[in-house]
Amino acid sequence: MRIHALTTGTVRLKRSFLHPSAGVRRQLDLFLPGEWSAPVPIHCWAIEHDGRLLLVDTGETAAARDIPFARFEVAASAELPGALSASGLDGGRVSEVVLTHHHGDHVDGIVHVSAPVRIHAAELRHAKAPFSRVMRRVLRQPLPPGFAPQAFELTGGPFGAFPRSLALSDDGRIVVVGTPGHTPGHVSVICVDDDGRHVMLAGDATDTLEQLHSQRADAVAPSPATHRATLARILAHCRQNATVYLPSHDPASAARLRDGTVVVPG
Ligand SMILES: [Zn+2]
Ligand SMILES: [Zn+2]
Repeated sequence: MRIHALTTGTVRLKRSFLHPSAGVRRQLDLFLPGEWSAPVPIHCWAIEHDGRLLLVDTGETAAARDIPFARFEVAASAELPGALSASGLDGGRVSEVVLTHHHGDHVDGIVHVSAPVRIHAAELRHAKAPFSRVMRRVLRQPLPPGFAPQAFELTGGPFGAFPRSLALSDDGRIVVVGTPGHTPGHVSVICVDDDGRHVMLAGDATDTLEQLHSQRADAVAPSPATHRATLARILAHCRQNATVYLPSHDPASAARLRDGTVVVPG
């Protein structure tokens, strides 16, 4: 198995997004003037295994519009095809795409994909809900053309600390687990690498490893309690299994993948 960190440009995030206040200001502050982070990566991931090339998320495109708490910088050359070839991969070989959640910086790259695209049924319901539709219009973040993923359910029973899962490979080494919080139907993909480590492609389960250790719900989670419960579960999984934890926007994710650095829960 080989796992590649693909980078489709960068994004700056408002500090109030990364370190939200409590109470009503948690979301209000996102829309007020504030400090910005340095550019952080917009990763998606390619998994070569058993002759297949799976993508987890598809990254952002140059068409992305800024929102009140995120400023995107994506060159056309950094979109999915360029990101794949930078890793020596041929986009025409992609056999399947799994989306962690429906936000644009994870799904906009599907315009470059002809392989089947799959998403958790609960996330697809959330994406189609009236509130999500209104927010996309207010923030001018339309779903990409051709967004028609197939829905899957997590019917595979527990995997490690996660009560619900779905195997994506016959040998059980690529598994989707439910990680609700950032969005209600958010999932992560865990790959059991050749050394037996669990490489967790965590989408926006958190922005950073630090946020996981702090068990801090993010500013956009509809239910902060659900988000915190998921972060506790991820840490429980890390106690049971040597786990390399890779959020999409953590500047240290690519190095942790390269070095096989596992989480040491406090
Ligand atoms: Zn997101
Ligand atoms: Zn994201």
